[in-house]
Amino acid sequence: MSGKEFRKKQKLANRLRLGVLILILVVLTVFGILHQYPKGWRPAGVDAFCPFGGVESLITVLTTGRFLERIALSSFILLLATVITAIVFRRSFCGYLCPLGTLQELFGRLGKKILSKRHALAPSVDRYARYGKYIVFILVVVFSAVLGELVFRPYDPWVAYQHLTSDELFSSLLVGFIVLILSLIGSFFFDRVFCKYLCPLGGFLGILAKVGYFRIRRNEKSCIDCKACTKVCPVNIPVAELQEVTSAECISCNLCVNACPVENTLIIEGKRKGHVAPVSVLVATLGIFLLVVGVSTYTGGFAWSVKSIQEITLKTGTFNPDEIKGSDTWKAVSELSGIPKEEFVKTFGLTDAEFEGTLKEWAHKPGSTREVSEVREYVKKRLGK
Ligand code: SF4
Ligand code: SF4
Repeated sequence: MSGKEFRKKQKLANRLRLGVLILILVVLTVFGILHQYPKGWRPAGVDAFCPFGGVESLITVLTTGRFLERIALSSFILLLATVITAIVFRRSFCGYLCPLGTLQELFGRLGKKILSKRHALAPSVDRYARYGKYIVFILVVVFSAVLGELVFRPYDPWVAYQHLTSDELFSSLLVGFIVLILSLIGSFFFDRVFCKYLCPLGGFLGILAKVGYFRIRRNEKSCIDCKACTKVCPVNIPVAELQEVTSAECISCNLCVNACPVENTLIIEGKRKGHVAPVSVLVATLGIFLLVVGVSTYTGGFAWSVKSIQEITLKTGTFNPDEIKGSDTWKAVSELSGIPKEEFVKTFGLTDAEFEGTLKEWAHKPGSTREVSEVREYVKKRLGK
């Protein structure tokens, strides 16, 4: 292949990668906005579209057989796809699909354009700060299992981003919103700040990446030591000094491979030799997700939209209090459970107007500290379930 053709191929691979990242970010942003509005098609909530929900809920599911509140089967389906990609391509979820990574990357590109340079923490600080994401990962998994709730949710910048149009942003998600703002400002100066230091999913995938089949290998004989690979790496891996990139920090973005000017010098190689192109990693990572999500959608396991308690009861033939959500109305819960309006009004201090509205509207009214889960638990107890 001529040098020109080779460079063209690398540019195309980078553009395709960015295109896919932006497309996923746009789709999920639209889902986040639509989820906040009760009218029309309402996509499932942010927790149902994040594989980390599956990680957070794993111990609870294994020990009690129940999901944590807000977690759906789709979280586990996405987790399965993420684990498969990690076993094959390490952290390609981070490098090719993660929308929070995309947001940081876009701010990083903006920073690079305006400042014409990237900053990095002092190696002595950076080395220890990177353990942050593993600590967050362990704390989140343990405390979610012990307390039986999504403990990271109020601090999660992605959850905050998905609630930019919700009144929850400045109440229960304020800390997450601050983390989001700080991560984006930080990414303007330093690359992928949240990914490098705090992301619990990054911590989980970093551990899993150690068994990943493909890795980047540098051919020392043909390397001209230009250091283009090191300069472009968003997580500051000194690629030009390594024979193989086996670091758990590598987000498998393959930007280094696409920056190397010498063909066949940086390659993505399997443990038993044989190598693949960056575009193939993109296609395969996306393909694994589309296949897993497609099959589970076809078989009914992946729920794309929020189903009301009436729809679920009609479909299953039984009223299950565990399915009560914030978007359900008091009226519907009262009718389906057989618990009279007066009892709800007295127990939860409702006005007549509130009874006509949704549980979420009641729980999130100004100054309220009430939770939708209180209603769910009350109905369960009242019906002896
Ligand atoms: S080493 Fe290469 S693939 Fe890994 S994060 Fe850095 S640029 Fe991306
Ligand atoms: S970009 Fe390629 S040639 Fe340049 S230092 Fe890295 S591996 Fe060597």
